[in-house]
Amino acid sequence: LSNARSTAPVFYSSDVQHEALRFIRTQTRLYEALEKRQFELWYQPQLSFATGQVVGVEALVRWRLPGGQLVPPIEFIPVAEATGQIVDIDRWVLDTACATMRGWQERKFAVSRISVNVTVADVETPDFVELVQNALSKHGLLPSNLELELTESALLETGPANLDKLHQLRTCGIRIAVDDFGTGYSSLGYLHKLPVTTLKIDKTFVDHVVRSPTDAAIAETIIWLARKFKLETVAEGVENQAQADVLKARGVDIAQGFFYARPMPERELREWVEVHQN
Ligand code: C2E
Ligand code: CA
Ligand code: CA
Ligand code: CA
Repeated sequence: LSNARSTAPVFYSSDVQHEALRFIRTQTRLYEALEKRQFELWYQPQLSFATGQVVGVEALVRWRLPGGQLVPPIEFIPVAEATGQIVDIDRWVLDTACATMRGWQERKFAVSRISVNVTVADVETPDFVELVQNALSKHGLLPSNLELELTESALLETGPANLDKLHQLRTCGIRIAVDDFGTGYSSLGYLHKLPVTTLKIDKTFVDHVVRSPTDAAIAETIIWLARKFKLETVAEGVENQAQADVLKARGVDIAQGFFYARPMPERELREWVEVHQN
């Protein structure tokens, strides 16, 4: 090969190679992150539209590199899901969330509900039900202190054995939310078989609820559905007053979004709640 021909194509890796390398690098670093406890749990408040009170928080994982930078979930959750590492991450998240809630109860902090995100791989682990129950008893919590969030698509793709586990957890009093609701095309008949307590209206509908009649109609349908099935509704990703006004007027129960507060570390969350609660 002449010099001229060997240069360009060889030194520029294709997008596919680049992606594959990035994937492997992230996987390797995630093992290290798990070992060295580089994860943090941040908390985003959920407020009652009726009273303005903080009724719960969603726990959201963060990955802090040794240099101090934060890696957002979008950059590592998909990799962790593909490699199965998500199961270890989510076990840490569950335990940490329960420990945090315990701490709040001890200091008589006003928030009594914490939501954690779980995936199909988590539910599929054979000891999932015991794992969740043990986390509650280890930290002396009531089942009603905990909510598990599963995306609508996860719930749709999961089999009867997993649904049975969710039924067991629901029966013992743990709350179960359908995350990103409205994006997964679940049928009415299916929804009523799911052991759920809460529908989280996906941010995409909230985004356009003020100006798009279609998205407003979808939001209204979800709210109507929730009422029929006696489910609680949470609007995700509320970013402004106009959205809040429409969602409140339409009867959504709970608001979550940057308009109120971003996810934040535990101490900041407590300070935020103390300032905003009254
Ligand atoms: P999600 O469960 O739908 O969480 C909501 C995401 O929307 C969070 O992003 C939150 O910070 C963001 N958000 C909340 N309000 C607003 C808003 O008003 N505007 C905008 N633009 N965004 C808002 P985050 O923390 O980056 O998490 C992204 C996704 O990563 C989550 O989406 C969830 O699917 C996943 N994830 C996060 N933590 C965990 C975890 O501990 N376990 C698992 N399995 N997945 C997690
Ligand atoms: Ca969620
Ligand atoms: Ca969501
Ligand atoms: Ca989402």
